[in-house]
Amino acid sequence: MKNLESLIKTYNDFPQKGIAFKDVLGIIQDPEVFRELILKMSSNKVIKDAEAIISIEARGFIFGSAISLQASKPMLVARKPGKLPGEIIKENYYLEYGKSSLSIQKESLEKFNSYAIVDDLLATGGTINCVANLIKKSGKDVIGLVTVVELLKLNGRSKFNFPVESFITF
Ligand code: AMP
Repeated sequence: MKNLESLIKTYNDFPQKGIAFKDVLGIIQDPEVFRELILKMSSNKVIKDAEAIISIEARGFIFGSAISLQASKPMLVARKPGKLPGEIIKENYYLEYGKSSLSIQKESLEKFNSYAIVDDLLATGGTINCVANLIKKSGKDVIGLVTVVELLKLNGRSKFNFPVESFITF
């Protein structure tokens, strides 16, 4: 896709030594490229086949909410600790540079039967696996993952038994 790669800047040794951090925020500074990307992501089969999408805090929200509007799909959020009110379901996970936990509002998750997960970047797959487990534990289906970037060397997709659609790989 035009210019997408040049809009993703790499910061070495951020947020810790040895990590090559891919900063996707340049994409939203170019509305033409952002629009083209959102149109492609929204028309993907994974999004079309899902009843709703779940996007992941925080950069996943940027892409998830634009896809939600374009594809007319309801959006839920998976958030970091202490952010969501009401009854939540929660799971701990490891990502490329640390560990954390993610929560989803139980009542929201009960409303729909199948979900597409949306995030900015797939690295080791720990984050997506966490969200997929929360969905499955609630008896709901994971249709697949739609992500802007995929870091191929870390082979995150090998953790999943659902399709992964990425739009730029490194
Ligand atoms: P992982 O769980 O290892 O697949 O990590 C994915 C999550 O962590 C995504 O939500 C990314 O925003 C963030 N992340 C992990 N590694 C990187 C990286 N090299 N550059 C930018 N974001 C990253």
